[in-house]
Amino acid sequence: MTMPKGTLFIVSGPSGSGKDTVLGRLLAAHPEIQLSISSITRPMRQGEVEGEKYHFITREAFEQMLRENALLESNVYLGNYYGTPRAPVEAAIAAGRDMILEIDVNGAAKVRAQMPEAVSIFIMPPSLEVLEQRLSGRGTEDAETVRGRLKEAVGEIARAADYDYIVVNDDLDEAVESLTAVIVGQRAKIARQKYLIDEVLQDVKSRNW
Ligand code: 5GP
Repeated sequence: MTMPKGTLFIVSGPSGSGKDTVLGRLLAAHPEIQLSISSITRPMRQGEVEGEKYHFITREAFEQMLRENALLESNVYLGNYYGTPRAPVEAAIAAGRDMILEIDVNGAAKVRAQMPEAVSIFIMPPSLEVLEQRLSGRGTEDAETVRGRLKEAVGEIARAADYDYIVVNDDLDEAVESLTAVIVGQRAKIARQKYLIDEVLQDVKSRNW
């Protein structure tokens, strides 16, 4: 039997879109989907665990990976390197497992250029007003910091049209449902299931009807 390949999903969304919460719910319900663990050089924040969402590595180690072409894509964000290790992505896809890259809009463009078959999804806040509320609702930041984040988020939203799908995160349950529908729908695509058709036809042939 020819195994179908896994699909590479790219998920992006600005700070305040609730992307982490939506993704967390999807992955809890679908443990068969693998999340890519990015290698990054920013310091570990409180509560973060090595190897859970990120591998925390030195600049030297990151630059070594760049030289060895060991990263599928990389980006500099606020002075730190962020990159997607290439080998785990290739291994998952070849083994028929779906993989999700949670990366920013720049990284998404780089992956799309190399792997046009990747399916990209942008998690969108329902409105500017809600985004503003979510960003300022985090607590202690002053108005200027909130405005800075808001500008950053709007810059990302401007590139949402480059994605295959938009999931609006107004109601969390509905957003999780939409994202799940995109992934399940992709699995049913003919390009991925063609081997099943071939199998049936092969079976019919072997029966000499
Ligand atoms: P944070 O430092 O807040 O965890 O992440 C900052 C930004 O980097 C987020 O937009 C996140 O999606 C993005 N990011 C995380 N890992 C990667 C990666 O491997 N590549 C790229 N291009 N962006 C990443």
